[in-house]
Amino acid sequence: MSAIPVKIWRNLQSEVASLERDARPREILKVILLWIRCNSQHLMLEPFLDYGFDMIKDLNEDSMPVEFSSLRSSDLSNFVNVIAKRKNKEVNAIAQFLRDVVEELVTVELDKECPNCGSFGMRAFVGKGNGKLAYQCSVCGHSHYVDGARVERDGLAFATEKNLRELGVIQQTIE
Ligand SMILES: [Zn+2]
Repeated sequence: MSAIPVKIWRNLQSEVASLERDARPREILKVILLWIRCNSQHLMLEPFLDYGFDMIKDLNEDSMPVEFSSLRSSDLSNFVNVIAKRKNKEVNAIAQFLRDVVEELVTVELDKECPNCGSFGMRAFVGKGNGKLAYQCSVCGHSHYVDGARVERDGLAFATEKNLRELGVIQQTIE
């Protein structure tokens, strides 16, 4: 696909521009997911599918640990600015950016070093077939299971808050 239809792209831009300055991560996620779902006939294509938009569309956002997200309020103004600046033809950049923001909103970042690139802060995922905890580097994409085993291709799913509590990744409660 060479461009998102202008009307559809403007629709996301205006929804995002109308977010309050102190919008909570959950509201941001809601805006993005609603837009993807309402326009799925335009978005369930390449390059969006390359960035996992089919998995994003089917996210059960209520079960995701968004309150434990690493997205900060300074990231919100960056998000608003980037969406405002992008043109509907920048399909790849838009797909990648939205995927990154959604991932940041629904995954928990752990204080772990990536064995591949040395960056700090790997994200918690679960194996699709086995439910095992896995870590994925947000810089280079390297991933491995908690026991060191390699992750199969497309083997990871977003971890729900319940998954992460059962796996002991999230222990604290939210006031
Ligand atoms: Zn890495």
